[in-house]
Amino acid sequence: MIETFTNLISKSNQVLITTHKSPDGDAVGSSVACYEFLKACGKNPLVLFPDSPPDNLMPFLTGVDYLFYKDDFDCSIYDLVFCLDFNHAYRVGDHMSIIFNDLNCPKIMIDHHPNPSSFCDLTISRPDNCSTAQLFYELVEESKMLSKLTIKACESIYLGIMTDTGSFRYPSVTAKTHEVLSNVISKGVIPHQIHEKIFDQNSSDQLKLRGFAVSDKMHLIEGSPIGIMELSQDELKRFHYKKGDTEGLVNVILSIKGVSIAIFMMENEEGNIKMSFRSKGPYYVNEFAQRYFNGGGHKYAAGGISELSLSKTRDFLLSHYKELL
Ligand code: 5GP
Ligand code: MN
Repeated sequence: MIETFTNLISKSNQVLITTHKSPDGDAVGSSVACYEFLKACGKNPLVLFPDSPPDNLMPFLTGVDYLFYKDDFDCSIYDLVFCLDFNHAYRVGDHMSIIFNDLNCPKIMIDHHPNPSSFCDLTISRPDNCSTAQLFYELVEESKMLSKLTIKACESIYLGIMTDTGSFRYPSVTAKTHEVLSNVISKGVIPHQIHEKIFDQNSSDQLKLRGFAVSDKMHLIEGSPIGIMELSQDELKRFHYKKGDTEGLVNVILSIKGVSIAIFMMENEEGNIKMSFRSKGPYYVNEFAQRYFNGGGHKYAAGGISELSLSKTRDFLLSHYKELL
């Protein structure tokens, strides 16, 4: 496998790096690490995002050649494509996923979600890995090309691992995770700077929204380990919602003593409901998200969409929550 990986890279020149829609820290981190690595290998990479990451991730894109997908994007010049942090073509969104039909060159998937589909020529899928960023580091290591990781690549790997592990605390964290972190820190990454760039960028509106959500919009399903939080468009507008403002709220629910399943529901501008699920211990959420919300994800972190109204989605959950237990 690793020979195919290095061969495909060595034969390429124009390389397209893609990741999932609503890019998170691991999507941005692994994409920038891959970009920097390819540059250092003398290639000509471009990162193509389906849409914009939240504001706190934008500084990590400084100096990176990137674009947000538009219908007139010309993919004919590329001779290699990376698919990072997703394992189904639809995860880049309906508008951008058509490029996977048009592309006439090899595609490499590097991902850590369960159940990959087979739309790539080389599928590197390791669901036991905490993050695509760590997996990318391991592939570069296995290729004996660690010297091609710039300081910016190392910072991006730290970013991806940090955000996908809830700051190094989820069950997916292993000794290898800490070894990789140790290695990137030895290369010059300054950890506290990355934590500050990500976590200390709150606006007061954002904190007020969080306070409101916790005090007024969160409730527990009695007699179960499930906590639910919901926010409507009107409520979001009241606090001048910006993309990323609700990031992590689902984990606040999960931090309540006795809660093992957290469900966060947010009405989006189109009127449907973005669902986020988190769990721990014996409870898994990805199958439920897939079955009812056209989504999926990891055992302990999944997402999806509800086409019902917010209150009907809540009613649906109240009549189906036992399937999660
Ligand atoms: P989040 O709740 O942070 O949006 O997503 C949590 C996890 O679920 C992420 O790992 C993400 O990859 C996955 N996820 C979120 N939305 C979807 C979706 O619509 N489909 C699939 N397959 N996975 C999703
Ligand atoms: Mn990830």
